[in-house]
Amino acid sequence: MAKLSNPSEIAREALRLLAVRRLSPSPDNYRALYNEIAGTDPGEALPHREFRALLASLPQETLAQQRMARRLEQAFAASNWQQLGAGLSDLVRQVGKEQELPWNELLGDFLREWENKQAGLTVARKREALERVLASGSSGAEVLFARLQGLVKSWSAGSPAGEDMPLLTAEPVETATSQPQRTAEGAAETADGEGDSPAQLRNLFAYLLEALTGSQLANEPELAADARALVHKVRTASSRGGLEDLLAGIKRFAFRLELLAEDRAELRAGLLKLLQLLLENVGELVVEDRWLRGQIDIVRDIVAEPLNVRSIEDAESRLKEVIFKQSQLKHSLNEARESLKQMLAGFVDHLAEFADSTSDYHDKIEVCAAKISQAEDITQLEQVLAEVIRETTIIQLNAQRSRDELRAARQRVGETERRIAELQQDLERASTLVRHDQLTGALNRRGLEEAFEKELGRAQRRQSTLCVALLDIDNFKKLNDSLGHDAGDAALIHLATVIRETMRPQDTVARFGGEEFIIVLPETPVEDAQTAIVRLQRELTRRIFLHNNNRQLITFSAGVTDFRPGDTQASVTKRADEAMYAAKQAGKNRVLIG
Ligand code: GH3
Ligand code: MG
Ligand code: MG
Repeated sequence: MAKLSNPSEIAREALRLLAVRRLSPSPDNYRALYNEIAGTDPGEALPHREFRALLASLPQETLAQQRMARRLEQAFAASNWQQLGAGLSDLVRQVGKEQELPWNELLGDFLREWENKQAGLTVARKREALERVLASGSSGAEVLFARLQGLVKSWSAGSPAGEDMPLLTAEPVETATSQPQRTAEGAAETADGEGDSPAQLRNLFAYLLEALTGSQLANEPELAADARALVHKVRTASSRGGLEDLLAGIKRFAFRLELLAEDRAELRAGLLKLLQLLLENVGELVVEDRWLRGQIDIVRDIVAEPLNVRSIEDAESRLKEVIFKQSQLKHSLNEARESLKQMLAGFVDHLAEFADSTSDYHDKIEVCAAKISQAEDITQLEQVLAEVIRETTIIQLNAQRSRDELRAARQRVGETERRIAELQQDLERASTLVRHDQLTGALNRRGLEEAFEKELGRAQRRQSTLCVALLDIDNFKKLNDSLGHDAGDAALIHLATVIRETMRPQDTVARFGGEEFIIVLPETPVEDAQTAIVRLQRELTRRIFLHNNNRQLITFSAGVTDFRPGDTQASVTKRADEAMYAAKQAGKNRVLIG
């Protein structure tokens, strides 16, 4: 029989011989026949089972160790002795490297960083991070070295977040001295990530908890301590019991977080109530001023709605206006009141003096009249007449003095009036500092500029789109001419109200000019902005404007555009204006993208 070399032919022949020689088909008989046919010495055969068990018992505590064990197992399973040899060589090489680790340098660096101060890193946090690193000591000197090195590096970068980043990957940080030996196979395993995902999830969860502790639990020391304890468990729990304990801990923590969220919501509601109360009281104080009442009502409406950052900003800017305007009015009112008081007091004094002197004069003239009727000769009459002339002169002088004083008082009234008029003018000038249009409550140009700047900053930070829509009422002049200016004003207020109630709370509404409005739409692609403005058109048709119970249809034309690189507020507004103009040209009552 020719010597067989193909393993499957040898196997087939071995089975045939088992039958021919009537041997029981045990593994040992089969192996003996196989060796006989193949011409191999049974003494040379590798004890497969034992070798596989040996490979299975290799330490697999770190990803790198797991990868190495899998690499050796696969090489063995494929009888790829070359690859098995390469794997073992790598192992031996690593042992050599461990001895070369520059511990002295690392410990020097560690001591230096331990004593240094890093922003946001307390000694307690450092100790905690160190404990975590030391917990990885059982994974071998190299792992410990790499993690400690990563920790020292993150401390020296002064970043508290960086402290945990090397651990995120659950892998030793690659350093010049600890470069893991990666085979193509190993890299593929990392890419499909099958082996690392539980460990990575674990680290991500721990990282999330730590981020939560830093940002959300800064004022909750007990919860923060719980979170840190959980982080420790998340990183170290490995036994079944440990994992169950961790799960119970997470449940408890989640429950406490819920309680905290409820507390915070209650606190916010309480603060809002306080603000509303405050607003009501301020409202009571300013009943004399219609403008101020209007502003306060607007602020009250804002806080009555669900809050967001923009509505709070809006409320703040409106309150500032109220405070500013109130201080101005108080000043001028105090002045006016003071001068009126002085004038009244002066006038009463004069009246009293005049009344005194005239009644005195009357008494004296009566006495003179009696003397005249009783006079018996001309000399007696002369005396009485002289007395009458004297008294009359006195009263004339008194009257003249009173007239002069009254004239001076009138002059003072005039001056005070002028002063009040000046103050009012100042007030008007100052009102240009105000950010809201007084007719519609929408932002005015100044307010728009500020809001636009903020939105632009936000959009650039978040790398999101920002759109601008410019609306112009159609045939507004006709409405004004046919129904009167007041009806025109009411139509503007109606439109502003519909815009505010239809657009999203984060959209900014401003009155740009007479019957033109600008809407800034953050985080909106231009097509969606167009859709939103078309929806606004439909809403305006539905919520028809009533004037003296007559239905008046208001329509508008609009141009919509998005903010592009290199744009300024002026250039983007100009493009929206051009698109609006094109909408007018195309027949009005439509929305075009510019
Ligand atoms: P178009 O459809 O082309 O926009 O025509 P229009 O009549 O709307 O446009 P035009 O610009 O000719 O007229 C705008 C009018 O808006 C002129 C002005 O009398 C009126 N207007 C501007 N501001 C106010 C305001 O505060 N109140 C009122 N009632 N009318 C205003
Ligand atoms: Mg116009
Ligand atoms: Mg118009």
